[in-house]
Amino acid sequence: MSSVLHDLIAAFARIGATPDGGVCRLTATPEDGAARSRLAAEMVHRRLGLHVDAIGNMFGIAALAPSSREAVIVGSHLDSQPTGGRYDGVYGVLAGLLAVEAVALRAAAEPGKARRNLVLANWTNEEGARFQPSLTGSSVFAGTLALDAALALTDGEGQTLGEALGAIGCRGTEDLPLEPRCYVELHVEQGALLEEEGVEIGVVTGCWAARKLSLIFRGEPSHTGPTRMARRRDALRAAARAIELHYQLIEASGSGAHASAARITVYPNSPNVTPSQVQVWFEFRHEEAAMTVALGERFLAGVRTAIEPLGVDIEIAVDERRGTAALDPQGAALTLASARDLGLSAMEMKTIAGHDALALNRRMPASLIFVPSHNGFSHTPAEFTEPAALDKGLAVLTEVLWRRVTDE
Ligand SMILES: [Zn+2]
Repeated sequence: MSSVLHDLIAAFARIGATPDGGVCRLTATPEDGAARSRLAAEMVHRRLGLHVDAIGNMFGIAALAPSSREAVIVGSHLDSQPTGGRYDGVYGVLAGLLAVEAVALRAAAEPGKARRNLVLANWTNEEGARFQPSLTGSSVFAGTLALDAALALTDGEGQTLGEALGAIGCRGTEDLPLEPRCYVELHVEQGALLEEEGVEIGVVTGCWAARKLSLIFRGEPSHTGPTRMARRRDALRAAARAIELHYQLIEASGSGAHASAARITVYPNSPNVTPSQVQVWFEFRHEEAAMTVALGERFLAGVRTAIEPLGVDIEIAVDERRGTAALDPQGAALTLASARDLGLSAMEMKTIAGHDALALNRRMPASLIFVPSHNGFSHTPAEFTEPAALDKGLAVLTEVLWRRVTDE
């Protein structure tokens, strides 16, 4: 058992710990700052060269092949959801740290074998809990999100991501001084498939599609007492109707899609004023992109009809479509072979959740490796992965990274 890994996970779980055993470490808060400081210290302790870029992505460079400009990047994220667990993201960063250390030791013992450098990354705002959209740092790095736009994202209080990163001293100036060759990420599954199948390692070949629709319902403020019922234009009532319709539609479709309406804001949010403006964040996920688009269209048409009698208007604030994507097939084959050589069972699967690996896959071949999540719990303090399963993931990651830095 890698007690170092388990001790590190326990130490990071104390940063932003919640009384129920979970973790709340929102992006660019003092808790995130504390976790970043601790990671920086762990990197420096292992003689990794620390760089922080303009969106706060942290890089720890192991210069295994100083004559090479190329780097294999391994990483994940330290930020969490408000009801986060102890493994989501942080496991990939800490296992990455130890895997980099192990590969560096092996490279020192076998001089001339490493053909390129190895970099540990902590990506800023993977979760998208405080600042939307999610996958911010990795998207900037991949070149699919402009730095200025990312720094200007605002939280619920109107503070920008740039200001928040500055406030915790994590707005850097140094780009990674190496050319990325490929990316590898280790993560807890966050679903129950591996546990149900009794398989130790998940080799992610691609992702489900998602359509994220955020709708603003506009009514009119009025007194909740004297205003006649027929004269009210209640945006919250319209939103409630839309939410119920959303779930009915998914169930009736029989498509196997996953759907949610998980966030709502109400204005003015006073018990004595009929709500005049309500925003709801809806989501559709399915293995087929066309299905998420079709479900969204059916939903929008249905909502317009359903709320018309309420005198409430709808505005589409966000209509984000994430297609399916295939991760690096070569990386998947390498992970399968590494697991097999270590005597571990492995299976190919798709990810339903978003990950930095998916954002980075736009710039470089990216791989994603899963270990089982007990009961599939995630984004909850109940999130748990057996220590032995965490060790197996670390072993596979280390082997994959070694092959990645040494292969032709
Ligand atoms: Zn995560």
